Amino acid sequence: MRIAVGGLHTECSTYSPVLMNREDFRVLEGADLLAAEYFSFIGDSGIDHIPLLHARAVPGGPVSLAAYEAFKAEFLALLKAALPIDGLYLAMHGAVKVEGMDDAEGDWIAAAREIVGPDCPIAASYDLHGNVSQKIIDQLDIFAAYRTAPHIDVRETMVRAWSMLVDCLRSGKRPGIAWARIPVLLPGECTSTEDEPAKGLYGQLLDFDKRSGILDANLMVGYVWADEPRATACAVVTGSDRAAAAMAAEEIAAGYWAARRQFTFGSVTGPLADMLDIAERSNTAPVILADSADNPTGGGVGDRADVLNALLGRNIEGALVAGITDRPAVEACFASGVGSRLKVRIGASLDPASVPAVLEAEVLRLDDPGAAADRQAVVRGAGITIVLAARRRPYHNIADFAQLGLDPKTVRLLVVKSGYLSPELAPIANPNLMALTEGVVNQDIEHLASNHRSRPVFPFDRDFDFRPQARFSKRWSG
Ligand SMILES: [Zn+2]
Repeated sequence: MRIAVGGLHTECSTYSPVLMNREDFRVLEGADLLAAEYFSFIGDSGIDHIPLLHARAVPGGPVSLAAYEAFKAEFLALLKAALPIDGLYLAMHGAVKVEGMDDAEGDWIAAAREIVGPDCPIAASYDLHGNVSQKIIDQLDIFAAYRTAPHIDVRETMVRAWSMLVDCLRSGKRPGIAWARIPVLLPGECTSTEDEPAKGLYGQLLDFDKRSGILDANLMVGYVWADEPRATACAVVTGSDRAAAAMAAEEIAAGYWAARRQFTFGSVTGPLADMLDIAERSNTAPVILADSADNPTGGGVGDRADVLNALLGRNIEGALVAGITDRPAVEACFASGVGSRLKVRIGASLDPASVPAVLEAEVLRLDDPGAAADRQAVVRGAGITIVLAARRRPYHNIADFAQLGLDPKTVRLLVVKSGYLSPELAPIANPNLMALTEGVVNQDIEHLASNHRSRPVFPFDRDFDFRPQARFSKRWSG
């Protein structure tokens, strides 16, 4: 039995002017793909695993057409060379935007289908923040998406999709997909599965799974910062029985629709000035303040210095800002050397839309893992410690700080570029504040430019009725 493995995995804010290129992706091919920790669940005996290409990037702006076309050509050439295969597994995110294209995953998966032909089952795993279209569903036989946000079930989700594919090939029974769009588009920060109502809605998916004729029930939140026609929430159900799958999809969709007005932010949230007022008054530590609109893991650019400028304006000392993407500033620090002082300009290095900070700072530490793009610098100025990164990246794990000799638990105020906090930072936040800042993934959803979205969609539109209606993959004819 031969199963080929590949995919394209990132999330793109259509509001970001910073295009992603090939060098922004970690590309896995050949033996490297099968050896990667990410794919280490693939180990069934008696199956030949054929590695294709898997390209994954930290979320960001749209992928350049040239980068996308090159990935696609390479992926398809490997797929063609792998034939004949019995099954294809795709590890996708679902919110890729390619410049000039409205449904990148639809394009990718349809191209794969054309090569493998109609008889080869295709399974896809998705992030629940992915956007789905009829074109995507029409090419797939098996679909499974994360059920947690923050995403702590990545591996389990991939195993669900993979196992359904293996079972289908071993049994010869071909599953199918029913799905139902839900005209609701909410940010991940309101739909964390740590909080109600998402917690309950996602918890119920396990009950749907147990129903006769259902293999895997999914609720997609979708990705709100994609101004595309397909951007919406939806229910997607893989099943063995059309009527049962359609009913489950409609029930899941109805549940999300009914709860749409109940979603709120999980942490104390407000304008930056209000959050800094709370931080200054706080007697507990560390206060962790999330700069939500510039969160690189949500597609934010990650180069904004707005919060740093606000700290400087208030003379708030003892804060740690981790981090700001600014390659020229990192290079200036490397040229200057540890222990030196320099006047440094921080911020707006990728997207000129924001205001940089300019300050006198001492270079505390330089981190040089090898490639210039991976360099980091730690500087201190005006009593504030600032982490600078040459490339776009988050600081969401304790190891990110330990690498730089920093301990987030010992600071009074930690500023990170994040939405809801990561599983490692959330438990130490005392308290956690989320600032409604400016940026390409800002939380002022109703005021996002909406030129391409299908309307009506809540909360862009509020006064309309909706009844879910399941549709099937065209591969699952009655
Ligand atoms: Zn996600």
